Amino acid sequence: MKKLTYLAFSFFSVSMFAQEVSQEKVQTILSTLASDEMKGREIGTPENEAAANYIAKLFKENNLEYCTGSSYLVPFEYKGKTAYNVCGIKKGTNPEYLGFSGHFDHIGISKNPKDHIYNGADDDASGITTLIGIADYFKNKKPEFSMVFMAFNGEEKGMLGSRAIAANKNLDYIYDHMTALFNFEMVATESAFGKNALFMTGDEFSDLDELFNKNAENGLKIYPDPYAVQQLFYRSDNVSFVKKKIIAHSFSTVDMTKAKHYHHENDDVSVVDFTNLTKIINNLAKTLEKLTPSNFSPQYNNKVKLD
Ligand SMILES: [Zn+2]
Repeated sequence: MKKLTYLAFSFFSVSMFAQEVSQEKVQTILSTLASDEMKGREIGTPENEAAANYIAKLFKENNLEYCTGSSYLVPFEYKGKTAYNVCGIKKGTNPEYLGFSGHFDHIGISKNPKDHIYNGADDDASGITTLIGIADYFKNKKPEFSMVFMAFNGEEKGMLGSRAIAANKNLDYIYDHMTALFNFEMVATESAFGKNALFMTGDEFSDLDELFNKNAENGLKIYPDPYAVQQLFYRSDNVSFVKKKIIAHSFSTVDMTKAKHYHHENDDVSVVDFTNLTKIINNLAKTLEKLTPSNFSPQYNNKVKLD
């Protein structure tokens, strides 16, 4: 009997553990995107397309379906050529969607003889890793909310990818049922509020943070934007969806009083706190697992400018 209980318990704990995203996986994904081989993932380069294909491969591994057409790659025109956003969906038991996004492009290479690659580990390989981590967590689960995962291209050239995909009519079936979009932008470091914490841009415009924090697992907390004066809410990819009247905020951990790597060659894996990032990904996922259209229906107030 004792033995049986032990076996049953160990099986239970193994299967409980198995749903967590491992730090090893987080490291592999982020390090691949931020590797020198990706040459800074600038839109219009073969390396940018390689990054899109790598993300598509991970979407497939995580059992996502295509958003539109016969590929995860959703084309748009960039300087007379084709560039791609990457989009995958997970159907939940409810037709209402939560969206998760980040941008996979970065600013390419520099002329610095010591280090000429803008690896963009924090900006924004960390955000892409976060949304893939969430997809991974739900790989073999059926969440209540349906989920859409979008990796935007061309953010660094003026949010081109998010603008294009937000205007794509083939995705209106998702946008018309989108409860909220979580856009992750630079989440690799410890925040000014400490570990296991993110801040949300435009926190004063909706009650998303309050509703999320009410359900938050394992001490994860979303704080107000300490840099609100910089109006990041209107200057990040989420704004393409704000204009569609969708609740869309960006989430970040960057401590602007300390960070010295923004758009510098030293934004590489050495700035990443993988323990904290893995914890945040798992706690986000565990919180999302509890959300339903009845306990999570964030609304804008009248302070927001929707156009
Ligand atoms: Zn960025």
